[in-house]
Amino acid sequence: MDINLSFLGAARGVTGSRYLIEANGVKLLVDCGLYQERKFQYRNWKPFHVPPGELCAVLLTHAHLDHCGLLPKLVAEGFKGRVICTPATADITKIILLDSAKIQEEDAAYKKRRHQREGRQGRYPDIPLYTIDDAEATLPLFDTVDYDEPVAVGPGITATFHDAGHVLGSAMIKVIITQGGDQRSIVFSGDIGRWDRPMLEDPSQFRRPDYIVIESTYGDREHEGTNEIGEDLVEIINQAFRMGGKIIVPSFALQRAQEILYYLSMLLRQGRIPAMKVYLDSPMAIKITEVFKRYEELFDREMQALLHSRHSPFDFPGLTMVETVDESKALNAVRGTAMIIAGSGMCTGGRVKHHLAQYISRPETTVLFVGYQAEGTLGRYILDGAKSVRIHGVRHPVRAKIVQIHGFSAHADRKGLLRWLSKLAVEPRHIFVTHGEKTAAEHFAAYLAATTGYDTSVPSYGTKASLE
Ligand SMILES: [Zn+2]
Repeated sequence: MDINLSFLGAARGVTGSRYLIEANGVKLLVDCGLYQERKFQYRNWKPFHVPPGELCAVLLTHAHLDHCGLLPKLVAEGFKGRVICTPATADITKIILLDSAKIQEEDAAYKKRRHQREGRQGRYPDIPLYTIDDAEATLPLFDTVDYDEPVAVGPGITATFHDAGHVLGSAMIKVIITQGGDQRSIVFSGDIGRWDRPMLEDPSQFRRPDYIVIESTYGDREHEGTNEIGEDLVEIINQAFRMGGKIIVPSFALQRAQEILYYLSMLLRQGRIPAMKVYLDSPMAIKITEVFKRYEELFDREMQALLHSRHSPFDFPGLTMVETVDESKALNAVRGTAMIIAGSGMCTGGRVKHHLAQYISRPETTVLFVGYQAEGTLGRYILDGAKSVRIHGVRHPVRAKIVQIHGFSAHADRKGLLRWLSKLAVEPRHIFVTHGEKTAAEHFAAYLAATTGYDTSVPSYGTKASLE
């Protein structure tokens, strides 16, 4: 067999997912993600390893920026092939890429002004990594395929997308390459979801792939269960009612915001929390929620039953979708206890910063974190107990109650990763462990080898493997 697999991102790191397959005279990528880890961001500006015009397709696992966020740059530099993904991923990715391009443009303009004022040069050029026009040029290239339907992607190469249970539309991709009478299969795990989460189906499993590329984000950790989420929310919300203040929830727009709505609607229905106003104050989360409503066939059975009853989690008494900036500002006048869910998830931008500026110094406020807060972000400072924080150039003392719910993670932990592999009927020829910090990936690869005897490795950035 003559198949090369190169690791061009998320190799000993968690962002910038990108794999290159070279076989049967064609080249294609699996994912084309943005590097978001500060130490690797310079790679976003580097030329692609292969001239984009030489690629015949990109297979896209899901809509998170660290998997799709460099597509507009690929297109701007000459990619003319297809971006193949599920219909839900296509719809969500379009929203996310346009938003990302807008942020790229705004950031570049801001940096240019600042560097001119300070008479210095930044680390990267003061131009956007890509523009809204570039993002728009990407949209016509999307070519969608449903779960479990094989699609031809090149001569003797097919791909099949299987539900990954990570975010709506997310997929694991099985690529089958035929040469002469011989065949090899490679399964790309993408991001692996968790079992028994609300809304989504459980992750798909595989029986006899030849090669596996597996993520390892939490390869050296075990999560708290999702069972505690409801209990935690009941306690936090009832406490907030006793204090009489707002509950500010910084949230990611994809999946997390919808999951919070799911739990709130359930707790309200069960009478475990008082009737309250809930504001989803994020245009992107509102758009993505609309996509969720269109794909009810992708949800698990319980969620489908809910959507058919009068109890849709996306439409319950007290829930308001806040579209415009004026409507968002008007929330300052809301009296009493209410929940405001707003982006960005780590408080690095977006409307949540305005609400934090308004409420974080009031002792009756609760700030509720429901997602990971990376080092160096405003969210992390608040979570780590900063006495005061700067927001839009103004210092605010932190007097609000700061709480966090841990159970929401959308990634399998070490047990989950092993469970994902538990259906294997034959030993794979090799397992490549990617998409994890170096130590998490190495620990998981070693643990996996020790418990199963499988042949594992942790490829480093830029390396190429030839598959036998
Ligand atoms: Zn993801």
